[in-house]
Order: sequence, then C-alpha cells, then structure tokens
Amino acid sequence: MLETSTLRPLIEIVGEEHVLTSDYDLDRYSGDALTPSRAFGAEDAFNHLADAVVLPGSTGEVSEIVKLAVTAGMPIVPYGGGTGVMGGALPLRGGLVMSMQRMDRVLEVSPRDLTATVEAGVVVGDLVGHLEDSGLMFGHDPYSVPIATVAGTISTNGVGYMAAAHGPMGNQVVALEVVLPDGSVLETRPVPKYSSGPNLNHLFIGSEGAFGIITKATVRVFRKPESSVLTSASFDSFDRGFDAAAELLAIGMRPTLLDVTEDDSGTTLYLLFEGFREGVEAQEARWTRVCAEFGGIPTGPGPAEDYWRFRHQSGENYKRTLLGRPRRDRWARWGGGRGFDYLHMALPISRVLEYRDRCREIMAGTGVRVVEYCIWSRPELFSMMLRSDETAGDDIRERLASVVDQILTLAQDMGGTMEYCHGVGVKLNHLLKREQGTGHDVISTLKRVMDPGNIMNPGKLAL
Ligand SMILES: Cc1cc2nc3c(=O)[nH]c(=O)nc-3n(C[C@H](O)[C@H](O)[C@H](O)COP(=O)(O)OP(=O)(O)OC[C@H]3O[C@@H](n4cnc5c(N)ncnc54)[C@H](O)[C@@H]3O)c2cc1C
Repeated sequence: MLETSTLRPLIEIVGEEHVLTSDYDLDRYSGDALTPSRAFGAEDAFNHLADAVVLPGSTGEVSEIVKLAVTAGMPIVPYGGGTGVMGGALPLRGGLVMSMQRMDRVLEVSPRDLTATVEAGVVVGDLVGHLEDSGLMFGHDPYSVPIATVAGTISTNGVGYMAAAHGPMGNQVVALEVVLPDGSVLETRPVPKYSSGPNLNHLFIGSEGAFGIITKATVRVFRKPESSVLTSASFDSFDRGFDAAAELLAIGMRPTLLDVTEDDSGTTLYLLFEGFREGVEAQEARWTRVCAEFGGIPTGPGPAEDYWRFRHQSGENYKRTLLGRPRRDRWARWGGGRGFDYLHMALPISRVLEYRDRCREIMAGTGVRVVEYCIWSRPELFSMMLRSDETAGDDIRERLASVVDQILTLAQDMGGTMEYCHGVGVKLNHLLKREQGTGHDVISTLKRVMDPGNIMNPGKLAL
C-alpha cells in the first residue's frame, strides 16, 4: 500500500478515479500473459504486487508521476495491454504500475508521409481499424492484434505475420516521444534516416520499459495493396520447405507472409504476395519455379486462406476470456500446465537445420517432444512448440525447464539469440548476460547514468 504522502500528490496529478488501489485491481495489473506454469525457475517473480495502479492521461502527467517516483524512490512499471508472455510487466519490486490505457488516441495519419502518430496505449487493432478509411494498413500484424498496444509491441520489438515484407515492429518506428527516468521528455524526429549521431529510437525498441516510458509513437503505414495472392505448397520434409523459403528470399523475392510449418500433418509453406499488380504476378510466376525446384507440391490458395483468416484467433480468444481478468484466471490458462512451451530462436540461416537436429538430440529420452516447428517471416527465425508426453513422470516440469535452457543456450552458442519475438521479461533474465556479454555492461552503464535510482521497471533486462 502506498503512503498517504505519495498517494495524495499522485491523486492530484491524475485525479482520484485514475489511481487504483483495490485488491482486485492490484492483482489484475500485477502480471501479464506469462503464467507460472511457463516461468521455469522464475516463479518467485509472481510473489509481488503493485502498491498502486496509475492511469495517466497525457505526457505531462506521465512526466509529473515519474518525477514524484524519483523523489519517493518508487519503482514504475509501464503497462500496455498486459499481453506480454515473458513477464516484462511484472512489478518485481512493487511500486506503481502505470497503465497507458487512457492514452489511446490516434493523433494523426499522413497518407503522404505514410506515417501515423499515436499515443502509447492505442491497441494495434484499433489503429488498423482507424487506417481502413484512408486506404492504408499497418505493417505489424501479430496474433495479438486485438489486445496488444503500439508501445508494448515497440518495447518488445514483436514480430507479426507481415514481417517478411515489413520487418519486426522496431522497423516500423519512425519517431518516439519518451518520458525518461528523470521525468524529462525526449522527442526524436519523424524522418527515416539519421546521420547526425545515433538513432535514439533504438534505446527504447525492445527495451521493455527499462529506459523510459514511451508516450507517443510515429509509425510507418503502408498503402493497401493493389493486388494480393495467398498460396501454399507441401514438402516431404521440413528441410526442403526451409531451403525453398531461403532460396526465394535469396533471389530477392519479398512476400508479405512467409511461414514454413511442420506439424503432425506434414510440412506446409504459406505465402502471401502483395503490392502492385505486375510485381505480384511476377513473384507468383517465379514462386512456381522455386517450389518445383525444391520438390514442393502446390496446394493452392485454400490452406493459406484458412491460415490467414484465423491468424488472430488466439488474440481474439484471449480478449474474450482472459484480458483484464484476475491473475488466477489467467494462470489457469494452461490447465495446470503439466508441460508446454513455445520457443522462438534466431540463428544464421546456415545453422538452423543443424540446430534443429541438435535440439532433437537434447530432447531424446526426456519425455519432451516438439509438436510444431516453424520458420516465420525469415529463415533465421525458428520456433518450436514443446509439450511433455502424457506418460512423463512427476518431475516433468523440472525436465522441461532443463530442456528449454539447453535449447536456448545452444542457440546462443551457435551464434544466435534465445528469443526473437517476445522479449526477456522475467523468464529469460537468467540467460541475458550470457548472450550479451560486454553488451550487457554497456546497457548497465547506460541504465546507471539514466536511472541512478533504478526506478524504471527494475529487475528487467537483468538490470
Ligand atoms: C494470444 C497472444 C498472442 C500473441 N502473439 C504474438 C505475436 O504474434 N507476436 C508477438 O511479437 N507477440 C505476441 N504476443 C505477445 C504480446 O502480445 C507482445 O509481446 C506485445 O508486443 C505486448 O504488447 P502489450 O501492449 O500487451 O505490452 P505489455 O505486455 O503491457 O508490456 C510488454 C513490455 O513492454 C513494456 N511497456 C509497455 N508499454 C510501454 C510503454 N508505453 N513504454 C515503455 N515500455 C512499455 C512493459 O513494461 C513490458 O516490459 C502474444 C500474446 C498473446 C497473449
């Protein structure tokens, strides 16, 4: 609970109705979509609650709250949609959870500049809806479109279905407004290229709120395509589908969607080509040749159309059944979670297939198996969905945790990274220094200088 001496000025800044202190609210804002069943070794992170939840309505209010927190030595955890799956929004040291949900306005759309400027808490799906009338679209399209916020996706540098053409969320950022850990406001310029010093947007992209609170973002938007073609092919092995995907990017083709999935029904490659008509026709024709070269059997638009139609289903389900619910409801999501994890590694193209083989060796005889392998948007981005065998013994959680760590550290040892999509949060904190090496000393130094009291989302990024 907050001292009255802190609560009173907080209420003066945002108004009484925008400071939440009930047990119910503290509970539901003190977590995101990470469940203890998938936390493997980071379960203690769930033992903390926020002291208060504050809902600012403007950049000025955010700045005043941060200044108050500095004086009180009180942690602040920025909170977007609370859909992160790594525990990035968990209040590890109590303090304030700052929900950005009131800052949800689309401020400007410029069809000429091909940009949109939005407040931090705009839900991605609302931005997509807003752009419809202008004939424009957003380039970041995660499963979680209906539930994630623009600033949350920037802070995790998420990946979506259109990333083959448009890159991850960080690539869509043109400019940011950020309240720094001393309460001052930084604004970068809305141009695509800097040579006048480093591009400071990158200090906040994928930084999980450790260096400041994003209050506004100018993001890239795109003209709706003149033409679009969904298509698919099946392959007799994951390796052949992988090689076909690597080849089509290597020769310079730029599909919007690129997905190679192997599950119990076989290996399927899903593609979406879109853009100006002649370009789409040329890509489609060339794809037919690449597909044949790698032994692919064209399966037409049907499977890709189904894939595309249902791509936001898990986000819709989450919104309907879990978003904003108490933590225990969200934690029940995996039904006790005997054994499940979904891992997203990035490796050099030349190492991915070898890595897949070595992961199989790690899992052999452990009771953990892969139910789905996937390449998403680029051949370097490789995912595995793991489950434990029904017959696995009672120590399966420990074994799964050990398998997961071995798989992630192997990716690091083979020149890759343990996570390409969801951030570090609390779940991967223990492996971050191992991956970043001297890089972690650099971010620690920056953090000490910018946030000497370590009030900004303390404990994240192993800081
Ligand atoms: C069903 C489901 C499907 C998903 N699918 C995808 C997917 O396809 N691709 C993908 O990349 N992710 C996916 N995710 C994960 C999640 O949606 C993303 O990580 C998303 O980017 C988080 O956005 P958010 O607004 O919910 O952020 P939150 O979970 O609220 O926060 C994430 C991190 O960003 C920080 N943060 C939030 N707002 C700010 C701010 N204004 N300034 C600074 N820091 C801030 C938080 O402190 C935290 O560290 C999925 C999650 C679910 C539940």
